[in-house]
Amino acid sequence: MSAAPMLPGTAVSLPRRTPERVLAATGCPVPVVPEQGDLIEHWHERELLSDQPNRTSLPTHESDQVSQVTEQNQHESAPALHALSLGAGVQSTTLLLLSAEGRIPKYDVAIFADTGWEPRSVYEHLDRIDKEVAQPAGIPIVRVRAVGGSGKRSTGDLRADSLRPDSWMRMPVFVADRDDKSAAMVRRQCTDEYKLVPYKQEVRRRLGYVHPRPVPRGMYALSSIGISRDEFQRAKDAQVQYLKNEFPLLYLAGAADGREGWTRNDCIRYLNAAGWGETPKSACIGCPFHGNRAWRDLRDNHPDEWQDAVDFDRQMRETPHRGIKKAPFLHRSLLPLADAPIDKVTRGEWRDRQVDLFDAVADEEAEQLVEEGEYGSCSPWSCRSDTAP
Ligand code: SF4
Repeated sequence: MSAAPMLPGTAVSLPRRTPERVLAATGCPVPVVPEQGDLIEHWHERELLSDQPNRTSLPTHESDQVSQVTEQNQHESAPALHALSLGAGVQSTTLLLLSAEGRIPKYDVAIFADTGWEPRSVYEHLDRIDKEVAQPAGIPIVRVRAVGGSGKRSTGDLRADSLRPDSWMRMPVFVADRDDKSAAMVRRQCTDEYKLVPYKQEVRRRLGYVHPRPVPRGMYALSSIGISRDEFQRAKDAQVQYLKNEFPLLYLAGAADGREGWTRNDCIRYLNAAGWGETPKSACIGCPFHGNRAWRDLRDNHPDEWQDAVDFDRQMRETPHRGIKKAPFLHRSLLPLADAPIDKVTRGEWRDRQVDLFDAVADEEAEQLVEEGEYGSCSPWSCRSDTAP
């Protein structure tokens, strides 16, 4: 068999894609690329990871988590700052509206960490909630970006930074695995660099302790995160002592099923009733976590943004990157986005694939994942992947 074709001017080889391989790549969970280079060193260089660690860790069961967070709050002094981590998606918009209405405590500030590559609908939504909700309620919305690093590696624009030759691959793109048989996913680092770090920098700035000045022990900001009950497992510690995360949606009364805590659907119902039914999902235009439904929506309803993603997908393979040796793709089929099989696979087509009961179950799960992608919006502590920080 002849060697895989090389991309001109790069050390990147294109995988061979037979229809069977495309099907295999799209129909199973994608593992993380082993031994991938990463940006941790880069963050250490910027001394952004050297805060005193917060030693509490959240348990994995919902009930344990509720009791621990409640117990934790009982022993704490008042926060010096109450901030909303505003991703501008469904859950965090719900929190902003609830705070503006006075149903939950008023935020001192809402911080939106901007990757520079959100869809137009998100920026428009942000402008509207700023004007119609935040400003009248006296809650400033600040927009922060990742800028800096040695050699100015981050310009605050994830798309542009990702296309700079010899930059690290930050996005969770798909590459062929070692055997060139299936897809593997590059470890996601964009959320940390473009959302988490700028968010923390802004919090420290507002506390009056810009890095490297240590934040005095006992001083902290309370950070409100829009995690709904259906995704409670995404609730995470902030991992630094000057920042404590809270998850108000997990404790709200009034859910449709009568249980404690709102689900995403409860949030959507609330937003609809409040005139915010058009709240978009907040995620980068070319996020590899998009499922086929999101890609189709982009192609069919936002052609300019679709073209932007298609161009980026191609340019990515023409750009030499650190941290990966194989050609990167935005779609898990390892095909150029313009050619990727994003149209809905019918149940009959999925059934034709199944050989036994286990395949049937796996197929149903795979169908759901391929179609819907990683659900939810991307924000500093509630990124779309299960491996959110
Ligand atoms: S939306 Fe996707 S590409 Fe954008 S920061 Fe989050 S994980 Fe990265």
